[in-house]
Amino acid sequence: MTASPYPAPGIEAVLESSPDALLVVTEDGTILRVNAATERMFGYTRDELLGRDHRMLLAEGFRSGLQRIFFALRKDADASPAAPHTDTTPSFHPVEAYGLRRDGTEFQGEVACSLLAQDSEDAPVSMAVAVRDTSHRQAADAGLREAMSLLSATLESTADGILVVGGDGRIAGVNNQFISMWGIPRELLATQDDEAVLGFVLDQLVDPGQFVEKVTALYAAPSAESHDVLDFRDGRTFERYSRPQKVADKVVGRVWSFRDVTPARIAQDRITQAMADLAEQAAQLKDLAFKDPLTGLSNRQLFNDHLAAALRGPYGTAVDVLLLDLDDFKEVNDILGHHAGDQMLIEVGRRLRECVRPNDVVARLGGDEFVVLLVGSLDAEAVAKRIVEALRVPLWIDGTMLRPSLSLGLASINEDAVDASELLRRADVAMYAAKTAGKNRYLRFRPEMMKSLVERTALEAGLRVAVDAGQIAVHYQPIVSSRLGVVVKVEALARWERDGETVPPQQFIPAAERSGLIVEIGTEVLLKGCTELKPWLAEDSSRSLAVNVSGVQLQHGDFAELVLAVTESCGVDPRQLVLEVTESVFFDDDCHVIQQLTGLRKAGVRVALDDFGTGYSSLGRLQDLPVDTLKIDQSFTSMIHTGNENLPILSCMVSMAHGLGLTVTAEGVETAAQAEYLMNLDCDSLQGFLFSGPEAEPALAAAIARSAGAFAALRGDRVAGRR
Ligand code: C2E
Ligand code: MG
Ligand code: MG
Repeated sequence: MTASPYPAPGIEAVLESSPDALLVVTEDGTILRVNAATERMFGYTRDELLGRDHRMLLAEGFRSGLQRIFFALRKDADASPAAPHTDTTPSFHPVEAYGLRRDGTEFQGEVACSLLAQDSEDAPVSMAVAVRDTSHRQAADAGLREAMSLLSATLESTADGILVVGGDGRIAGVNNQFISMWGIPRELLATQDDEAVLGFVLDQLVDPGQFVEKVTALYAAPSAESHDVLDFRDGRTFERYSRPQKVADKVVGRVWSFRDVTPARIAQDRITQAMADLAEQAAQLKDLAFKDPLTGLSNRQLFNDHLAAALRGPYGTAVDVLLLDLDDFKEVNDILGHHAGDQMLIEVGRRLRECVRPNDVVARLGGDEFVVLLVGSLDAEAVAKRIVEALRVPLWIDGTMLRPSLSLGLASINEDAVDASELLRRADVAMYAAKTAGKNRYLRFRPEMMKSLVERTALEAGLRVAVDAGQIAVHYQPIVSSRLGVVVKVEALARWERDGETVPPQQFIPAAERSGLIVEIGTEVLLKGCTELKPWLAEDSSRSLAVNVSGVQLQHGDFAELVLAVTESCGVDPRQLVLEVTESVFFDDDCHVIQQLTGLRKAGVRVALDDFGTGYSSLGRLQDLPVDTLKIDQSFTSMIHTGNENLPILSCMVSMAHGLGLTVTAEGVETAAQAEYLMNLDCDSLQGFLFSGPEAEPALAAAIARSAGAFAALRGDRVAGRR
């Protein structure tokens, strides 16, 4: 190499006089050096530039450009570490950019960068940047620039995220929406490390494999377009469109656009769910319209439809209706509670279904009333019999054993064509007849049964008239004290003489309870009892009058007041009054009955529990009830025949009652053996035909004397027996 004849200017002078702006920028973007052209070009003094961030010199939209170049250069340098300190430092071909002058004006320029050779390994890495003002080309580029800015404005204003990948497979550009949709950190993008960007993208997807597969397939078919959906792990959903990017029919890259369709998908999901819910509700409503919700059996509506269809069926087909009603179901409900009642109804429904063919209709009409429809059955009575037997099988509910029993009425179509309502009415009449005949049975409808229905209606009408006319009389039955051997109490019992015949209370009391007339009858019995027995009661304050009270009366809130008003108006001491109630009155939902009886007891009135041991009585519950006396039902007394039998249930009842401080009266004492047995058990009083039946007031004195006589005879026997 020959030496130059001219003295070479210093490199510093060359740099300073360079027409291009020259800068040295560190990796973090800080300006380390500038030359005079930089000051001229950007309008800043050197001092204003040194140590500042170079991005102040770049127009918006170009500010991250240098850093990207920096990263790319470094990557290249790292890839060829063979000559890290040589002069051949990596450089980047010039790029177009817009500079920003101090006065805020922008100018078009060309930027070329190269990494500066490092003096030592730990010297900071920096980059030389040359900027050339290319405003002179502006006129020619103006159109292009406008088109570009329009394009970039459009890209930025769209809601879609857009990614352009060049023909070399590298990211050529993205819009801001793309970056924010995918949440890609700008620094990551600036590295131009496409692998890292792809990894970041894949990490967010439910099925990254599908994503990669699609991309691979599209690169194999560069001019193909595609549209698919991406599901994100965070629940978002994007639609992905991909089209080739073409320049004059040549594919130069690929444009990917992504649209966040999560809100639309959520709305769609909601609509789908709402439609499914609606369909389910419709099915439930349909079920509700035709099914009994408790037992799952058909309801009345569905039964009626089937019955009507059966009656329209071919002539000669047998159609039988079996209407049934549980006996004393109210007691199960009252005593054991509604839950137990429901369990029993469900079990009855199940048993009914087992007694018939799968296609026969079994419906619950409401309460404890069920109906079975048999079409084309050869022997409806056999089915009725089977039902009655199947229901008698005991069942356990909440630890209590119950034996459901039912009354069933059977009606069938025969020669005289009947319509649905007539058939049901006949079944109802037969069912009522089965109840009257003693329950727990089935009866087939016979025309004579209509007569008893008519009689039942007539009975209620007649009772109404009798009550209004004051024709309800009262008879009194003596009750003897076992200790004193004399009558200390009498029980008032209602009597109805109808056309010279006595109607038994067992018939007219239920009718009175059904019609509500029992309230008037009960008041009448109390009033008559107090009036007629006042003289007898006045003779001895230890005597008392017992009056039966129905649950219907206790339902009336003013019952206690009424009782006390009657005793007061008659001048009878409330302490001489005993009210006999059955256990079932205590099991109505409100505690209203207990309150009324507790109030009356405070006023001195005593309460006896009548017919104890029948129905669903429970010794265990006795201690919670406001009662003073237990009346053992005559069905227990009648178990004593010879007097030598061992009846632990009786001794248990008496000792339990005594243990709770109650006195015990035995009902239905008809024989000396029964009286002896009961006295040996320490029963406090005895009532029954052995002493006297119920008598009208004029005959009561004789009945009382007769009772004492009978007792004395008994005692005589006992004494004689002992001797
Ligand atoms: P109850 O309160 O248990 O009355 C006792 C019933 O047993 C009476 O029947 C009485 O005549 C009958 N009896 C008494 N001693 C004997 C006996 O040694 N052997 C037999 N086999 N029976 C005997 P009655 O008068 O027919 O009354 C039947 C039921 O009607 C009464 O049973 C009571 O529950 C109800 N009743 C009667 N009068 C009234 C009333 O004024 N109001 C209410 N709510 N119910 C009444
Ligand atoms: Mg009684
Ligand atoms: Mg009784």
